[in-house]
Parts: sequence; structure tokens; C-alpha cells
Amino acid sequence: MEQFNNETSIKTITYNLMRNEENSDFYYNEISNFTDAVLLKADDRFRPLVKLYMEYIRQNSLENLRSEHEYLFEFISLGVYWKIYGLRSLAVNPYIAKFLAKLYELRRNHRHLKPSIDYIRGILGTIFLVKEDLEENTNNINSNIPSLNNLKSLVLWLEATGEFKEEVKRFKQWLGYLSIRSVIDINKYLKRLAEFASWFELKSEFLLSNYTYNIEEFQRTKLDGHKFKEDYIFCSRKKVEYHLSMFGAEVMNREFRDEFSKTVRKAVLLPACMRINNGMNCKARKNSLDLVCTGCNSQCRINQITNLGKNSGFAVHIIPHSSSFTKWLESWGVDQGIGVVGVACPLNLITGGLEMKALDIAAQCVLLDYCGCKNHWDNGGISTALNINELMRIINSQEVNYAALAV
Ligand code: SF4
Repeated sequence: MEQFNNETSIKTITYNLMRNEENSDFYYNEISNFTDAVLLKADDRFRPLVKLYMEYIRQNSLENLRSEHEYLFEFISLGVYWKIYGLRSLAVNPYIAKFLAKLYELRRNHRHLKPSIDYIRGILGTIFLVKEDLEENTNNINSNIPSLNNLKSLVLWLEATGEFKEEVKRFKQWLGYLSIRSVIDINKYLKRLAEFASWFELKSEFLLSNYTYNIEEFQRTKLDGHKFKEDYIFCSRKKVEYHLSMFGAEVMNREFRDEFSKTVRKAVLLPACMRINNGMNCKARKNSLDLVCTGCNSQCRINQITNLGKNSGFAVHIIPHSSSFTKWLESWGVDQGIGVVGVACPLNLITGGLEMKALDIAAQCVLLDYCGCKNHWDNGGISTALNINELMRIINSQEVNYAALAV
């Protein structure tokens, strides 16, 4: 199927869902199969625990009950993050971690302080949260079974980075539940979790690394340039985290689909990095917290998708930066009649999806086919793209109408 891509070759910075093909249709097929395989195995290992956890949530009225697979995804994530960041988290001083978490909260609540807080967090985060001498020993933790206290340190570390805002809320709830279980039960499930996280890493490496092959090369050659900057930890996130996000995006799309399909209006949120020429000379109109395309360039992908939306019944909003996303959701997205499709790179997608769920927004997501924004990935910036077939399948389960793309 044709994809309206106006670039002949794409520079792969970290990941690329298209590989060498004309579009990423094959990826969506593969991630669906991978997700089936992971859920099958995870159901077998953790279903009784998830059932009990859901009962605990219901009895204590902690939140509106979500689906089994959403809780399963959270628990798997906890294991994968333990495997990646367990050693780091045990090495960090908890007072410093709490201080960094407070700084992050301050930054969120007072946007005007963002530049100065980011500056401080970049320095402190690089010094205290990243322990390079431990990285070589990461494999030592592969078979290590965390204790409950170990997981508390991990969650504190995740909170201190500011990268896992929504995940942390859910992990804290899991820790609250685990703390009322017997030691025997905790040991049994955390042993299974550690084993499962190792299996997930191997399986995803085997099936998905064709899409994420350049992450290690990027980190070997470019990561030093991010040291002492606020995005150092973001840019250093591991290949298995991309795979976890790809799996999580597929799980969430499946679980949220019914609610989304009931909505009468749809909105698609596109990241500003999709604009042609890096947004230079972009004539988009500011509309409160987002931007609305005015169609100044027929080759711009945002313009093309905006036209597609006019013909297919969805609105398009440009989100200038992922940090605008929360404000946008809070101010506008609480409209119950609207279904929202978020588009982002894997590292931003899960937090965004969880955030929408927490606000009771009927959501779906589409991954950017590759990353390219100049904030984090490329000094010159590369216009990013998404799979139109996937977007249209999500919007209304129909094939794309290419005639509607004429500008
Ligand atoms: S076509 Fe729209 S999004 Fe693209 S550069 Fe012009 S105004 Fe900006």
C-alpha cells in the first residue's frame, strides 16, 4: 500500500518501523503477533496475582477498575525496569532521589521555572542517577530477584528521573498491594517476575530488534553530547524499553478500542516534529495550547493529514512539545464525546496513554515511524512520519482514501 512519504530515504537515528520498506505495515503485523505471545505467557504466570490485585483495588476503591491486561502490562513493566535500573536505583542516595523528584514536581507545576530547573536536574541527574561504572555489571542483575524494598528503591529512582510519571503512580499502588502479601507469596511472584523480564528481553530482541537496531550506535556515538542536560536519561533509555513501549502501545490500543469506537468525534494529536523543514516558516495558527495547520505547504505531512481529516471526519491538533500534552489534555480533552489519537515516539507514548486513561479519555495511539526532533535526536531535525494505514484503521477501520489527500 502506498504511503504518502515525501522523503526518499530516512536517516535512522534510533528506531525505524519502516526498515527498508515503503511503509511500516509489516511492523504492525509483527507487533500484534509479539503481543499475543507475551500476553499468553504472562497470563499463564501472573493471572491469579492480577485477579487478586484487582480485587484489592475494588475493595479499597483505589480507582476505576481497568482491564486485566492493563494491570499485567504494569507488572511486566516493573520487572523490566528492575532489570534495567535495579543496580542504579540501589546505588542512589534516597534523599537526593527525593530532592530530584521534588524538583520535577516543581517544574511541572511552575512552567516558568522549567529552564532553570532543567539546568539543575540535568547536572544532578547525570551525577547522581546514572552510575556508568555499574552499567557493565547490569547483566549481574539478570537473575537477581528483587525484594519489596529493592522495588521501593527502584520506584523512587524512576520518580527522580521524571521520565515515568504515570508509571510511578501505578507502581506505587502495586507496592502497596505486595506489602500486604506474605513473604512467601512476594518471593514467589518476584522470582517469576525477574525470570519473565529476562525472557521478555530475549524474545523482544529476537523479534523486534530489526526496528531498533540503531539505538546502541546512537548511544555510543552521541549520548555523551547529552551529559549534564535534562534529556540525558531520556536519550539513554535501553532498547528493551522501546520494545516494552511497543508492546504496551499495542496492549493499550486493544484494551481502549471499544471506548474509542463509541465516541462521535475524533481528534488526532500530531507532534510538531512532523512539520516540513523542521517547522521553519510554519504558518500554523496558535490555538490556546496547541497549533492548527493553515496549509502553507502541500508537501508537509501535517497538512496532508489535516486534509485527510477534513474528508474523513477527524480534527488535527499540533502539540508543540510533549510537555504541552498534559495541559492540553486537562484543558480540552476531558470532553467525554471525543476520541483522541495520540501520535508520538515509543518513549513518550506509554506515559501519554496512561495519562489519557487516568483522565478517562477514550484514547488510541500510533507510533511515529521514526524519531527526528531536534530537541533530542538530531541537531538539524528530521521531519517525522506515521503510518497512514494504521491511523485510518484506528480512526474507522477503513482503508485510506488517497483521493482525499489531494491538496
Ligand atoms: S503545512 Fe501546516 S503544519 Fe506544515 S508548515 Fe505549513 S502551517 Fe505548519
